[in-house]
Amino acid sequence: MKLELNVFWFRRDLRLNDNAGLYRALKAGKPVLPLFIFDKHILDDLENKTDRRVQYIFDALLEMQTELVEYGSSLAVFYSTPEEVFQKISGEYKIDTVFANEDYEPYARERDAAVAESLKSLSISFKTFKDQVIFSRDEVLKDDGTPYTVFTPYSRKWKAKLNDFFLGSYPVKKHSKQFVRREEQNIPSLESLGFHPAGRSFPSKQLSDEMIANYGETRDYPGISGTSRMGVHLRFGTLSIRELARRANEKGAVYLNELIWRDFYQMILWHFPQVGKGRAFKPDYENIQWRNNEQEFAAWCEGRTGYPIVDAGLRQLNKTGYMHNRVRMITASFLAKHLLIDWRWGEAYFAERLLDYELASNNGGWQWAAGCGCDAAPYFRIFNPALQTKRFDPDHSYIKQWVPEFDQLSYPQPIVDHQFARDRCLTVYKKALAR
Ligand code: FAD
Repeated sequence: MKLELNVFWFRRDLRLNDNAGLYRALKAGKPVLPLFIFDKHILDDLENKTDRRVQYIFDALLEMQTELVEYGSSLAVFYSTPEEVFQKISGEYKIDTVFANEDYEPYARERDAAVAESLKSLSISFKTFKDQVIFSRDEVLKDDGTPYTVFTPYSRKWKAKLNDFFLGSYPVKKHSKQFVRREEQNIPSLESLGFHPAGRSFPSKQLSDEMIANYGETRDYPGISGTSRMGVHLRFGTLSIRELARRANEKGAVYLNELIWRDFYQMILWHFPQVGKGRAFKPDYENIQWRNNEQEFAAWCEGRTGYPIVDAGLRQLNKTGYMHNRVRMITASFLAKHLLIDWRWGEAYFAERLLDYELASNNGGWQWAAGCGCDAAPYFRIFNPALQTKRFDPDHSYIKQWVPEFDQLSYPQPIVDHQFARDRCLTVYKKALAR
């Protein structure tokens, strides 16, 4: 006789505490098999076989495994495709329902639709829950039921709607006896997935109240530790968005606002999935005649444009997998506007390298910087790297850290004159938008 159970499938929610879908699975009355799939469709497309994000996932699984073993259970981990895995485990167990949390990315939506179909053919239900955002795609809409495309009114309604219900935690531990009893199973090694260990210097989950409270004053200065570094935890769900938002709601309105930007871009990606498939939110911007000079793109990627704040940002990214938000804005604007290189090239470069890479926010950030996004910087707002440096890195502490030779003769001349680039950008953008 096959054991009857439910499955909880971890995806972008790699934690046991305060996990909405997992909580529902444990409360559903049957033993729960915790499952993770290293999805071949995703992993096999990653070119860098020392990608730190794979290491990050692996470490998060080990952490969950330790806790699950204490509960007398174990993760089931596969390197395969979801369809194959469910086919296989339905031969071992009588599965009633597969529980998971929602994911708004286009690939995830297609995958989940296909999985739901194939589970149906096995007479298994598939249920997904909101977990990665405070408000789901349809919970903060305009009065006429259509999605917001401008941040400020969206954020106003978001805040007005916020209450303890939406910030409440899901007490998974209370129901831990529902995890299916089983021997500890091995997690496939990185090598068996075709990857190699990639160093383990990841941002901590600890975040002080002081940081949250002071965030409004510190967040714009890349030379200090003035932001939370929670991006990667939110991306992979190693920390609950509700936990962060609860703290932000009590201690820091400016910090909460950034979390609302995250919900906003998630909502935009759901309602306008074309943005996640390479389309500009504002169609007129498809007419821009990008220069797309490959040498200049290589200089930007490698941090040798001769603009120290731009070069510092790219070098920080290349070396650490992180770039400060202020500098993400400056470097993105520089690529799209000063160099007139298609923002999609920059978006893809960030996507390969950012540890906190997330399609919705990365796309939102790039489209904002290039001017083509839903609530974007106007096209005539062209960041001046020298002025940005003066305001946000006045003592050059950030630049000195990443471009120590910035004031020496060996440092390259600017790749393009600022004033010239500004005028050229205005001409090209105006021409495209006048059509
Ligand atoms: P903090 O400043 O401490 O903010 C706290 C959290 O709020 C972040 O971790 C993030 O989850 C959220 N957040 C903050 N700012 C934004 C924002 N503008 N949009 C959406 N969410 C925000 N963020 C990503 O998470 N992944 C990306 O791939 C990404 N790519 C970006 C690309 C560009 C061109 C730009 C301009 C911004 C991008 N951002 C991205 C947004 C922002 O830069 C990062 O979230 C932030 O720098 C991460 O550092 P932190 O965790 O210290 O953030």
